[in-house]
Amino acid sequence: MVSWDEAASYVLAELRKEGYEAFIVGGAVRDKVMGKRVRDIDICTDATADTVKNIFPRTAEPGVNHGTILVSAGGRTVEVSEFKSRTHTDGGLTEDLSVRDFTCNAMAMTEEGRIIDPFHGQEDIRKKLLQSVGNPAARFREDPLRLLRALRLSLQLGFEIETGTNEAMEKLAPLIRRCAVERVAAEFEKAAENELDINELIFLLSHPVIKELPHFGACCISLAEKAGANEGSGFPVRTPVEWWSIIAGFVHREEANTLLHYYKRSGKIIKSVMAVLEETSRQSGKQWEDLALYRLGSELIPAAEKLLALREEREPDVPYLISRLRELPLQSKKDLKLNGHILMREFPHKPGKWIGKVLNSVEEAVILGKVENDTARILEWLKREKWE
Ligand code: ATP
Ligand code: MG
Repeated sequence: MVSWDEAASYVLAELRKEGYEAFIVGGAVRDKVMGKRVRDIDICTDATADTVKNIFPRTAEPGVNHGTILVSAGGRTVEVSEFKSRTHTDGGLTEDLSVRDFTCNAMAMTEEGRIIDPFHGQEDIRKKLLQSVGNPAARFREDPLRLLRALRLSLQLGFEIETGTNEAMEKLAPLIRRCAVERVAAEFEKAAENELDINELIFLLSHPVIKELPHFGACCISLAEKAGANEGSGFPVRTPVEWWSIIAGFVHREEANTLLHYYKRSGKIIKSVMAVLEETSRQSGKQWEDLALYRLGSELIPAAEKLLALREEREPDVPYLISRLRELPLQSKKDLKLNGHILMREFPHKPGKWIGKVLNSVEEAVILGKVENDTARILEWLKREKWE
C-alpha cells in the first residue's frame, strides 16, 4: 500500500493534468500542520463528480454525501468532492473553505505543500483554540451537529473552545435535538476512540449541549458528580462499548435499552452493553466474582470495571481483573473437558435440551472450583450430583 502522501499526490496530479484545480482540505491539513499522523485524505476540486469518475479507473460513490467520489489510489481510498458552496452560482476554494466548521478545519494544501489559510487556522492551532468560521450562532443554526463536533474536536485536539463560539453553543444547545441520532452517536464514538480521561468525561457531560440530548439529562448530572470524586489516571474510556456502558449504566435499568435503541446502536454494541449492565448490577458493592469475570471475558471486563469504579467512586483496576481471568480454569466453553458426545455415551438419554443444561452447570462448577476440569472427575461429580 502506498503512503497517504503518495495517494494524495497521485490524485492531485491526475486532476491537474486534466486542467482542474485540486487541493487537500479538512482534517488532513489540520493534522499535518499539527505534526500529527494523517488518517484519511479529503480533496476538493472544481471537477464535477461525473468528471472525477471518468478520470480515475477505480471509483465508488458513497451514496450519502452528494458530489463526493471515493477514488482508489494504491490501496488507499481518497475522498474527492466538488467545491462546496452556499449557492449553486458561487464556487471556488475560498467559498469551500468558508462553509467548513472551524478555522483549524478550513485550510487547504496544494500539491507542492503550500498552505492556503484565509481564516487563520494556523494561528488558532498555535493558540490551541477551536473557533467557528464566521458568525458562530449562524454556523450552529445552519448545522447543529457542529455543536457536538466542537466538543469532540476540542477534546481530540486538546483545544479550548473560543469564548464567542462557546457562548453561541450554550445559547443554541437545544438545537442538538434536531440532529440525526446516528450522527450524534458517531461523534461520541469518535471521541471515545480518541480516549476520554476522567476530566474530559466530566467536561463533556457537564456541557449544556450534552444535557439537551434525549435520555442524557439525568445521567449527565449523576455521572458528573460521581466522576468528580474520581481523579484516577487509570480511567480512560477507549471504545464505543465502554462509552455506551457508562452512559447507559447511569440511567434507570429499563431506560438503558431504550437509550441504546434510540441512538440506533448496532445489535452487537447493544448486546455487549446489556451484558455489562447485567453483570455490574450483580456486583455492586462487592469484589468481582470469578463467574462474572468469566462471563464478561477480556473484551467486556474493561467496560464493566470502569462503570463499576465510577459508581463506587474508586480507581478502576482492569489489569488485575484480566490477570484473575487468565488464572481461571476455563477461558471459554471450548476448554471444558466435557461435551455432548461424552454425555450421551455416559448417560443413555435421548439428545435434547438436557445436554446444554448439564454443560452449563458443569462450566459454572468448574469456574467456582467445585470440580476439576478433568473428564473423569466431572463425570464422577455429575453422578454424585444426580444429574443422570
Ligand atoms: P477527523 O480527523 O477526526 O476525521 P475531521 O475534521 O477530518 O476530523 P471529518 O468528519 O472527517 O472530520 O470531516 C472532514 C472535514 O469536513 C472537516 O475537517 C471540515 O472541514 C468539514 N466538515 C465536516 N463536518 C462538517 C460540518 N458539519 N460542517 C462544516 N464542515 C464540516
Ligand atoms: Mg476526517
